[in-house]
Amino acid sequence: MIDKSDPFWRDKSLREMNQEEWESLCDGCGQCCLIKLEDEDTEELLHTRLACKLLDIGACKCTDYPNRHARVHDCVVISPDTVKTLDWLPHSCAYRLVAEGKDLHWWHPLVSGDPNTVHEAGISVRPWATSEEGVPEGKMIRFVVKDPSIKRILTGE
Ligand code: SF4
Ligand code: SF4
Repeated sequence: MIDKSDPFWRDKSLREMNQEEWESLCDGCGQCCLIKLEDEDTEELLHTRLACKLLDIGACKCTDYPNRHARVHDCVVISPDTVKTLDWLPHSCAYRLVAEGKDLHWWHPLVSGDPNTVHEAGISVRPWATSEEGVPEGKMIRFVVKDPSIKRILTGE
């Protein structure tokens, strides 16, 4: 039986959330705003520590959120329909967690009540991401994350 005193992310499916609830579900980690490269031979997705040019890395927030899809053509659309197809989303991503029927972690701002806990817990990209601005496409490969500990942060595993 559903406990009606449960917070909305336990009580509702992604599809049932209103716009305010949906937006508040983002933990502000910034991980989905990192550039990913595809290995042409293996089709493997390579994670980099390069942040989208519109990401304010310090705040881990998009600087033009309302116009993001017009400004950045490959800015991903996360929706109840797409979330399960985006297998590169970090396991820590709140949309992924809810879609998989899991609860949010202690550091999620909705749980902790503090937007800083996502940074304090080492989940956000703030300490180690760098902007893609000024980095030629051919040199992005240099920013692929190889350190397993960083990769663990990237994937949330
Ligand atoms: S990975 Fe998920 S929780 Fe983190 S910023 Fe992106 S949408 Fe928000
Ligand atoms: S446009 Fe904004 S939301 Fe989209 S990837 Fe860039 S920083 Fe993130």
